[in-house]
Parts: sequence; structure tokens; C-alpha cells
Amino acid sequence: MSLPKYEILIGGKWRAAASGETFETDNPYTGEPWALIPRCGAADAEAAVEAASEAFETGPWAGTNASQRGALLRRLGDLLAENAEALAQTEVRDNGKLIAEMLAQTRYLPQWYYYYGGLADKIEGGVIPTDKAGVFNYTRWEPLGVCVAIVPWNSPLLILAWKLAPALAAGNTIVVKPSEFTSVSALEFGRLIEKAGFPPGVVNIVTGFGGEIGAALVEHPKVAKIAFTGGEMSGARVYESAARGLKHVTLELGGKSPNIVFDDAILEDAVKGAISGIFAATGQTCIAGSRLLVQKSIHNEFVDKLVAFARTAKMGDPSLFETQVGPVTTPPQYRKILDYIAIGKSEGADIVLGGKPADKEKFGGGRFIEPTIFTGVGNRMRIAQEEIFGPVLSVIPFADEEEAVRVANDTIYGLAAGVWTQSIRRAVLMAERLKAGTVWVNTYRAVSFTSPFGGYKRSGIGRENGADAIYEYLQQKSVWISTATEVPNPFVLR
Ligand code: NDP
Repeated sequence: MSLPKYEILIGGKWRAAASGETFETDNPYTGEPWALIPRCGAADAEAAVEAASEAFETGPWAGTNASQRGALLRRLGDLLAENAEALAQTEVRDNGKLIAEMLAQTRYLPQWYYYYGGLADKIEGGVIPTDKAGVFNYTRWEPLGVCVAIVPWNSPLLILAWKLAPALAAGNTIVVKPSEFTSVSALEFGRLIEKAGFPPGVVNIVTGFGGEIGAALVEHPKVAKIAFTGGEMSGARVYESAARGLKHVTLELGGKSPNIVFDDAILEDAVKGAISGIFAATGQTCIAGSRLLVQKSIHNEFVDKLVAFARTAKMGDPSLFETQVGPVTTPPQYRKILDYIAIGKSEGADIVLGGKPADKEKFGGGRFIEPTIFTGVGNRMRIAQEEIFGPVLSVIPFADEEEAVRVANDTIYGLAAGVWTQSIRRAVLMAERLKAGTVWVNTYRAVSFTSPFGGYKRSGIGRENGADAIYEYLQQKSVWISTATEVPNPFVLR
């Protein structure tokens, strides 16, 4: 049976890669290929950036005002809402994400387009009360130009919305490069972008491998900004290349987030928070609470409750609403997780749950790994320091607040942290002392279009979401107009 063949979008036209080459994308639940994706290269990068550049400089988009851009974004939000179910099904098939989570996500996604659509015409410059006599000085916020959005495989449409909505609201044009493992949802979303009425070339979508088309896009001299979400290694490579071209960047990289349970917490709530932190989305999230810090006085009781709850997690077909843990999305990720389980064992940590691949026959033949919990983990072990990006939890005991802060911050990352306590004093102080871009207290894994998101330390640069994120896609211009009747001494700085 021949597989459906997808096309890329460049300058308002759907077409094959310049080389005509394609590659297969598979269904993580079955492990079977189900569609063909264009394998783009340097020629496609050139065409996409040229189309975006032309649309930015001379196309109808250049003459579109902020209110009109807002209206287009809101229309796109409406179309997304109408197609939420179909897009969710696509992601379940291509990514292995759970239908329950995907439906909630695609129904929520329009909010990004409404929010930034609404913000588009509220970005105001200022009149500067300058110290100089005889001048009128004001500021304008202007778009950067061609932006490149590089999106990973774990939450393709959500992470795309974080970049696309503010970039377009600000008046930029964009080239989108989804992950090779999950390209289909972005391509299907491209049909909605077209239908919403964005002029040709404003949004271009190219597919292929990071080291090929991704690197070519980042290198392109006409690209002004790269917004990247992914692993720390690829992020560093992108940053180096962007630095050579003096380009703007937003980088959202990984994490090794501490989820800290104090002995005054409501333990049943904290158990759910720990589960949601590591087993939701099969642990394949940048905000995974992959280090669970538990106060020694409740350690054993808490671990017993946690293991009992985790044991009940239903693993299986992601297209069924009752499924709670789905497959691992990519083959390299599957191998990486199993490697880390072996590393944890060799480091002397104890497995109290899982620790191996799940029975293939029972689970559709795909890439399943049992939810895994290690206890007796020292924070210097590799399983406590390196991002695993899978359903593997490291439980680390601590004595008091001082030790909790020290261990929590003892990592190269700083994306997120969770704190479970009933003490307001402790909650406020911990939120202050934890070096992370997001701190959750008595909750975990909450994100919104309204609230800034990003990393401290090696978890990234810049912020996404929230009103300020639009400034990541704008540059400020200062305009000086003389109101003097005479030109002063030209040899002296005014
Ligand atoms: P990558 O960082 O390699 O992938 C993220 C995106 O970057 C993909 O679209 C990828 O394309 C692209 N990319 C890769 N290399 C380059 C490059 N040189 N220039 C431009 N674009 C590039 O993640 P992996 O899939 O390799 O996962 C590795 C690890 O990264 C995971 O195990 C996890 O720890 C972490 N990760 C973190 C994420 C987060 O949300 N912060 C998301 C995904 C992964 P392509 O897929 O085609 O290679």
C-alpha cells in the first residue's frame, strides 16, 4: 500500500522538496510508517527564506496594519478551534500523544492566536521627555524581519503557537521547521494558515532533518531571528551559528526540574503532582519534574504511596481516552531512555518500579517503556543531572529547606521547579530561592499564553508566552525630529 505523501509550503505554493526526496514518518504506537514527508535541503531553505523576505519587504503583508494582523490571527484561532479534533488525531498518530491530552491541547491552542491577535495593535511607542531643547523624540516598535521557528517533536503545535503567534502579531514573516519525527501536524496546520487569509510567503513550512534544512535556515543571511525549542546540544549549535550571523535568538532548552515535597505537604496531592511531573506525556516534556526531592521524615511513606499510584497508570493505545501513558515518540529517544535506565542501575540506584521496555505484544508493537522510579539517587549521579526525557524518575532524599535549595539548584538547568508545602512562608521563600524560570507551588505542569515561560542557566535564553514575549520579535527605533529654528554648532554632539 502506498503511503500518503505530504507537501511543503513555500511562498503560498504547496510542493515537493527541490530534490524530490522524501522520508517516512512512523506511528509510535505500531512502529509502522504511515506517511511520506519531503526531505528538504539547502535549495528549499533558500526558497523559503527568499519567499519570507519578499513577503516582508514588498508583499501585501508589508502594508498590513497591526489591527488587520490581529484579525487574521483571530481568524486562524477560529479555524484551529473548528479543526481541533482532526489535528489532535493527527498528532496521536504521528507522535503517539494521548488523545485526551491532545484534544485538551488543540482546544486550548486558539487562545494563543486570540491573545497575540488582540495584543498586535496595543504595542505602543513612547514620547521621550528628552533633556534636549528643540527636539521631539519618540519611539516605534518594528518587526525584525524573517524569523525561523524550529520546533521539536514533543508538543509540535503548542510549541509552534508560542513562536508563530507573537512573531506574526509583531509583523514578521516566518519559516517553520518542525521535527523530522512529527512534521505532519504543522503541514496540516499550514492549510488553515492559508485559509485564514495570510498572504503568500508570510508563513512557510519546510520539513526534513535538523542537520540539513534546519542548519541551512539558521545560517541564511536574510534570517533575522531564530526561535528554537529542543535539546541543549542542538540549541548550542543553533546559538553558535546565529552568533556568527549576529541574529536574535530565543532558546528554550531542556531541564532537570526538581519537584520538592516537604513533610507538611498534603501527601495525596503531592503524589499526583509527582506523577503528573514525570509520567504525563510519557515524561517527554522539557518541564518534567524528573528529580523528586522528598524530605527524609516522610520519604518511605511517600515513596510507597507514589509507587502504588504509578502502578495503576494505564499504558497502551494513545487513541483511547482511558490510556494514561503512551509510547515513546522517536526511536533514538527510546534507546536513550533505556540507556539511562541501565546507567541508573550501574550507578547503584534502586529500581522500585518498572525499569524495562513494556511487552511489545501487549502494547501494539510500538515503543513502550514501563514507568520507572529510582530511589537511593544521589544528586551527582548522571540520572539526576542529565535530561532523560522519558518516564524515569529519580527520588532524592533531603533533610531540611537548606539542603532542598542546595540540591534543587545543583544542576546546569533552570527551567522549572515544584514545591509541595502548606506553609506560606516556605512557599514564598522557596519560590525566591529556586533558580528556575517557573516555580509551581502545590501544582505542577501549568502553562498559559498569559504567563512568561523560559529558562534560567542552560535551560535557555529569552521568554515565550505572556505579553512581554512579543518584544522578543520586535526592535525599538528612536526617532528624533528637530523643532529648533536654527541648526546648532555642527561640530558639537547635540
Ligand atoms: P533536537 O534538539 O535535535 O531537536 C529539536 C529541533 O531542532 C528539531 O526540529 C530538530 O530537527 C532541530 N535541529 C536539530 N539539529 C539542528 C541544527 N543543527 N540546526 C537547526 N535545527 C536543528 O532534539 P532531539 O530530537 O535530538 O532530542 C534530543 C534531546 O533533546 C531529547 O532527548 C531531550 O532531552 C531534548 N529535547 C528537549 C525538548 C524541549 O522541549 N526543550 C524537545 C525535544 C527534545 P530534527 O528533529 O529534524 O533533527
